[in-house]
Amino acid sequence: MVQSSILGFPRMGVNRDLKKATEAYWGGKISQADLLAEAKRLRLAHWKIQKDAGVDVIPSNDFALYDQVLSHIQDFGAVPERYTSAGLDAIDTYFALGRGHQKNGVDLPALEMVKWFDSNYHYVKPTLQDNQTFTLAAKPKAVAEFLEAKEAGIATRPVLVGPVTFLHLAKADRGQSVDPIDLLSKLLPVYDELLAQLKAAGAETVQIDEPVLVFDLPAKTKAAFKTAYEHFAAEAAKLPQLVFATYFGDIVHNLESVPKDIYAVHVDLVRNPEQLDAVVGALGPKTILSAGVVDGRNIWKTNLKRAVETVEAAIQKLGKERVIVATSSSLLHTPHTLASEKKLDAEIADWFSFAVEKASEVAVIAKAVTEGPAAVSEQLAANAKSMQARATSSRTNDPKVKERQSQIKPADYNRKSEFPERIAQQQKKLNLPLFPTTTIGSFPQTKEIRQSRNKLTKGEITEAEYDRFIEKEIDENVRIQDELGLDVYVHGEPERNDMVQYFGERLDGYAFTTHAWVQSYGSRCVRPPIIVGDISRPAPMTVKESKYAASVSKKPMKGMLTGPVTCLRWSFPRDDVHQSVQAEQLALALRDEVVDLEKAGIDVIQVDEPALREGLPLRSGKEREAYLDWAVKAFRLSTTGVEDSTQIHSHFCYSEFQDFFHAIAALDADVLSIENSKSDAKLLKVFVDSAYPRHIGPGVYDIHSPRIPSEKEIEDRIAEMLQFLKPEQLWIDPDCGLKTRQWTETKAALVNMVNAAKAFREKY
Ligand code: GLN
Ligand code: ZN
Repeated sequence: MVQSSILGFPRMGVNRDLKKATEAYWGGKISQADLLAEAKRLRLAHWKIQKDAGVDVIPSNDFALYDQVLSHIQDFGAVPERYTSAGLDAIDTYFALGRGHQKNGVDLPALEMVKWFDSNYHYVKPTLQDNQTFTLAAKPKAVAEFLEAKEAGIATRPVLVGPVTFLHLAKADRGQSVDPIDLLSKLLPVYDELLAQLKAAGAETVQIDEPVLVFDLPAKTKAAFKTAYEHFAAEAAKLPQLVFATYFGDIVHNLESVPKDIYAVHVDLVRNPEQLDAVVGALGPKTILSAGVVDGRNIWKTNLKRAVETVEAAIQKLGKERVIVATSSSLLHTPHTLASEKKLDAEIADWFSFAVEKASEVAVIAKAVTEGPAAVSEQLAANAKSMQARATSSRTNDPKVKERQSQIKPADYNRKSEFPERIAQQQKKLNLPLFPTTTIGSFPQTKEIRQSRNKLTKGEITEAEYDRFIEKEIDENVRIQDELGLDVYVHGEPERNDMVQYFGERLDGYAFTTHAWVQSYGSRCVRPPIIVGDISRPAPMTVKESKYAASVSKKPMKGMLTGPVTCLRWSFPRDDVHQSVQAEQLALALRDEVVDLEKAGIDVIQVDEPALREGLPLRSGKEREAYLDWAVKAFRLSTTGVEDSTQIHSHFCYSEFQDFFHAIAALDADVLSIENSKSDAKLLKVFVDSAYPRHIGPGVYDIHSPRIPSEKEIEDRIAEMLQFLKPEQLWIDPDCGLKTRQWTETKAALVNMVNAAKAFREKY
């Protein structure tokens, strides 16, 4: 019999219950016991969902109150001393590590949080010492949760982050110099003990996640795989059977690191179906293949016919006893259930599958290959019908969009003139001083703004009333910028709920959900819009607000758009056409918007692309270059429809461009605003080294903190920047948009920023 399995299930619950419980606990509204009871309720509910769906192998220890890597940090005794000595109990220490702790004289910043591979989930980075030791917790979470499920009559497969992945993703603590991977021999005994405890508790198999195997790995990490898994093989009699799990990429370039003497190896056959043959060829003689054929990263119904074919191909080579049907990765990255979407159009809803629905898909595929397709003929027929309906729907296909894409000419990617000519014309029009000051787009999103938006949604105020409210907000934003003496204004984005959703709601080809939340980090969830079909712009999206703002402003008003790559990355993309095609469609829609803004008298237009870097394929080389090629083209297509005298800005929330600077330069934006206040000004050296000719505004203060930077501090920062940038290149701006800040601190910080710029103008 071919088993079905799930690598991990979302934790939040149907109604983001875990978010509500943790936030209530943090706010002192419920007790720790209440929080733990709610977490237990959710775990049991999620196991039951999977069991009822007919899934054979159900995961445990995939749950976490904040983050699964953080749970390992704590269970391995790898918590830095400053947290353990703060006098907090285990749960509060755990949350302090994840989100910081500032109470009763204890002031601990959180550990660093980083994106989990190329997903929008963030994990807490293990932060290790030179003299690091590891000890297993008295009651390891993995064992406790396995037993909890067992008590409820559900046999589960515990999930652990593997030792090599744990160390490869770790870093040395501040002031420490340890290379985490060198700590392997100290860490392995902890795994031995944990695995032995799991075996004693009754776990037959354990999933050991080693997704770093999809990266390009240094020799040391490759060697660590060999050491770790030869060690486990030697201890095999004392341990449960191990399922070595990789996902989010192929492992063909690292096949020599795949353990041979192991129970099972899991690979992602949604992302990289072509790796099947090579992986099968590299398996040990008895090793089982766990075939990831149901997408853990997206919301689309699985094409069951295709998935069955893939699994059949594996069975052909290995036999039924050596194949498991699985999700491609944990389902953590998918929303909970489609059943919550009451407002979704029935035609479109038929194309989707969230975590609960994916659980059934895995079971159906396993049944189809075990008993033959006749056993699930009804499900297969219904699925084929959905696939057919989606492929041929007029919602998916818009011939006009395709026609326009086919007409794109090479010249459409280029501005009329090169930068020197453009900047001369722009300067004539804009007449900006040296060290021009500006902001990144959004101003504080106040309670009044959110209330007014809610009232509009509920129909308590009319569109016209709402528009008037937004105009008043813009008036006020302009007045404040007058007072502050900024040089290039923004309208402040009061009308925008979210920088991607706002555009998605105004574009054809997008769908929206009401409950499809996915965890981003800790209790924070996002609800990405879904690209369902060819994208086009039925009408201007931002012209009304920008035009109004320009009409009440004496200084240049910057138009504000979200770039094509960011719109794509922060949505659920289609899986039936390549992402480059979707980016191009978004780019064409934005190109029209840019041109319309120009026509409306907007002389400066910013197109934000903060998500450009996170879209970078996990491995360098061909795939990465191909991505950068279409990403850069999409940005250029969006922005090059304007006259030379219109100034194009772009914004990035980071300044680590070293790996792909050629792409940043190739955007050909007249002005780049980037994060820099939390980074080393030395990172700006890359602009010098490549003789970057255009303008740059490295953020002079951190907007993520309520702290107000002094004028002196900002001046010092500017002086530092001038070691790398020419005075005529340098713009003065904050790190990012100000929507999460309060007005008082925003004004105070901007006063100091403007004064610092003025001080430098006098010197030059
Ligand atoms: N223009 C956006 C803002 O100011 C940019 C946000 C971002 O870079 N994430 O909010
Ligand atoms: Zn930003």
